[in-house]
Amino acid sequence: MSTQDIRSESAYATIDRTTPLYTIGIAAQLTGTTVSTIRMYEEKGLVIPHKAPSGHRQFSDSDIVRLRCIREHLDKRGLNIAGIKTLMSLVPCWVLKPCSEEDQQSCDAYTTSMEPCWMVSRKGPECETADCRTCSVYHIPDRCHDLKALYKGLIMTGEVPGDGAPTPSLHRKEV
Ligand code: SF4
Repeated sequence: MSTQDIRSESAYATIDRTTPLYTIGIAAQLTGTTVSTIRMYEEKGLVIPHKAPSGHRQFSDSDIVRLRCIREHLDKRGLNIAGIKTLMSLVPCWVLKPCSEEDQQSCDAYTTSMEPCWMVSRKGPECETADCRTCSVYHIPDRCHDLKALYKGLIMTGEVPGDGAPTPSLHRKEV
């Protein structure tokens, strides 16, 4: 089925924004980037594409929004890939999911800020077998214009301490 067919009214009623629709080539066109760049984003853990039974990568509307957000961080906000990864790694998944203290203690996402939670090798029991693409925590970085509102909300409800602790430098060091 072509993308155009999928977009037809009857077919569109049965899909949502996380349904895989686009090949990596189409995703590159839609986001103004290249196939190899999208593969690099995947390698760095910024996006998790669906895999067709043939092994080909497939991308959803939600992935397209996420890729455009990554491009915006790179092109207009002066971040580099490491900075974007750090932003994603700082999402407090244990508050948002939320998970038990036992889960937290056995999960690298709680104890380090080096990788986004969906990339850590040691996950708590609750996340061990989860499909991260269907998790609301994974989709938070899709909302790149909303992140501040999210953190403000968490701080106001006391769920994340607003103690002014220094954050890692996110700005581009290389051209
Ligand atoms: S299911 Fe995946 S994305 Fe969701 S909190 Fe667990 S590790 Fe993170």
